[in-house]
Amino acid sequence: MLTSFSFGGGVQSVAALVLQAQGKLGQDFDHWLFANVGDDSEHPGTIRYFHEHAMPYAQKHGIDLRMLRRIGRDGQEKTLYTQLTRPESRSIEIPVRMQGNAAPGNRNCTGTFKIEVIGKWLREHGATPADPALVGVGISLDEIERANTRRRLPHEQVVYPLLDQRLRRTDCHRIIRDANLPIPIKSSCWFCPLHNLENWADLQRDEPQLFERACSLETTINDRRRGLDRDPVYLTRYGAAHSLTLRQVVPAGRDLLPFADDGDGTCDSGWCMT
Ligand code: SF4
Repeated sequence: MLTSFSFGGGVQSVAALVLQAQGKLGQDFDHWLFANVGDDSEHPGTIRYFHEHAMPYAQKHGIDLRMLRRIGRDGQEKTLYTQLTRPESRSIEIPVRMQGNAAPGNRNCTGTFKIEVIGKWLREHGATPADPALVGVGISLDEIERANTRRRLPHEQVVYPLLDQRLRRTDCHRIIRDANLPIPIKSSCWFCPLHNLENWADLQRDEPQLFERACSLETTINDRRRGLDRDPVYLTRYGAAHSLTLRQVVPAGRDLLPFADDGDGTCDSGWCMT
């Protein structure tokens, strides 16, 4: 049976990688697959961690960790950011918030840029509905409600090795630290509408150019929607509820607006709501 692990690039995935290297994951996975939605789309810290820490660690321990990308029919790489900014693009792949509605919209990005990319690789390497590939997903006990919400392809059988060991996110931190690896940032696209306000404030403080690009992306999407006579959409739930742009919700050098906030989760652990 083909066995693989959907490597999200965040804390849970890295802890799982360490556990496999130590022979403590309960099940070894032959291939560790990181679906990169685009070097221009993933947070640069995630890409950096992959190359500087995860890959050297995997190589040192004989684990096959590889980066996959979405390739179009023309043989060129398709990234989520270029898809979002195409002038002729009519659909929005990321889960933006509609005006007056706090709930995130369709989340086609994880399906198209992660699950299908990994699914294609598994098919090309022999997985079939009759002989599905085992796919490990790094969900920890504090995210248990996300288990079984991930879309499954017919040639996949999804398992949750961290849940089987009842590990929490804090356990994952300890496992990574004990392996002398730095703790990775929460992995996600820098423009992900599922970020909570703290994530946005961190981006504005630590990566001000990326924050500005996220603000511009929101504007670009809405300029295009205006041309199509459609209502605006927002990158934050608060923007959607109060018709505020990202720049207004997270003002430069000032305190955040006083909204309660717990976020909706991102692609950190390789799970998916689609
Ligand atoms: S991090 Fe957010 S925007 Fe990026 S693929 Fe995942 S859900 Fe989509």
